[in-house]
Amino acid sequence: MKPPERRPLLLSPPTITEADAEAVHEGLRGGWAAPAGPLLAEFEQSVASAIGVAHAVALTSGTAALELGLRALNVTAGDWVIVPALSFAAPAFAAAHIGARLAFVDVDRDTWTMDSSALVMTIREIHAMGGRVGAIIPVDLYGNPADYEKLLPLAQEFRIPLLEDAAEALGARHSLGMAGSFGAAAVISFNGNKIVTTAGGGMLLSEDPQLIDRVRYWSQQSRTPAPWYEHEEIGYNLRLSSVLASLGSSQVARLDDLVERRRSIRDWYRKYLGTEASLSILDDPTYASGNAWLTVVRFDSRTHPDAATCVRECLSEQLVESRPVFKPLHLQPVFESSMCLAARNSEAIFQESLCLPSGAELRESDVEWISDMVLSALRDTRRT
Ligand SMILES: *Cc1c(COP(=O)(O)O)cnc(C)c1O
Repeated sequence: MKPPERRPLLLSPPTITEADAEAVHEGLRGGWAAPAGPLLAEFEQSVASAIGVAHAVALTSGTAALELGLRALNVTAGDWVIVPALSFAAPAFAAAHIGARLAFVDVDRDTWTMDSSALVMTIREIHAMGGRVGAIIPVDLYGNPADYEKLLPLAQEFRIPLLEDAAEALGARHSLGMAGSFGAAAVISFNGNKIVTTAGGGMLLSEDPQLIDRVRYWSQQSRTPAPWYEHEEIGYNLRLSSVLASLGSSQVARLDDLVERRRSIRDWYRKYLGTEASLSILDDPTYASGNAWLTVVRFDSRTHPDAATCVRECLSEQLVESRPVFKPLHLQPVFESSMCLAARNSEAIFQESLCLPSGAELRESDVEWISDMVLSALRDTRRT
């Protein structure tokens, strides 16, 4: 089959329309080329209402939102913060910025999100050592919401605030609510590779207006209302620019379409790869409909031990970008000394899985072509 012409095919490139560009122009012309002004409030409202949460503050990144969220939940140096082992590093970085200690817990083998029994064991271990758990940060990995029906009652039972890392999951639906609506506060990312982008940005959401006000105040250099710059607390400069907020508002207006497209892409991969017994595609959890931010394929290591690497190299030769899933955080050199009781699911998923191109502009013919290459690379690995 002849390869499609539009190449290279990237993992998750941003989707920018003429309307987006026009919105940015308007943002620039509106006299608010600054991290302040009415466009920010408009963007915050549009995301908050898409998720069904009352309050939101737009920040320069999801990582910044995690850090300020932790601070607003009174996490301080020496506290423990619990993060899933299988995750992008940002929630762990945010905790480390505050001087918190890290404990990584394994993920569920089907949903790839925080495992509730591993969480309980870790909390008990920390308490037995006399430690205080400052926060639990479940991650809605690859757009699949974590199992909040199990995690929220545990957070409540142990009286530990839960901060939802929904950075990858905007538009995902859990049976109890949208991703970004769980816990004491939640974080969304608008990085260039996420489902909605502000060319870099993030947001903290909460039902608690005081929590959001405090974070907004910190993010604007802790300026108190006085004619001069009066500071009672250490501040940050982490507020999103209005110009970027205007891009965000324009993108969020298309959220349903963007989610639908990513889910269709995953369906196409299922159509072209689904009959191959030695692989499986990460699916929705039973309790949710994910946003299919990335389509992730897992190979059977008993028959194809090195498939993820071989397939990635074959795709790369054809200028198709794929990426291993997140390397478990307890295996990262920088987190060598953190706590992790066990994370066998995370380790196996890392060895066996690969993220495939999932950008909203992919066509069915692209997916068919990529799938053909995946299958032929798999046949080659079986032979060796
Ligand atoms: C992208 C991401 C973040 C961080 O968001 P940035 O906006 O890039 O700082 C946090 N957590 C997870 C799970 C992510 O994928």
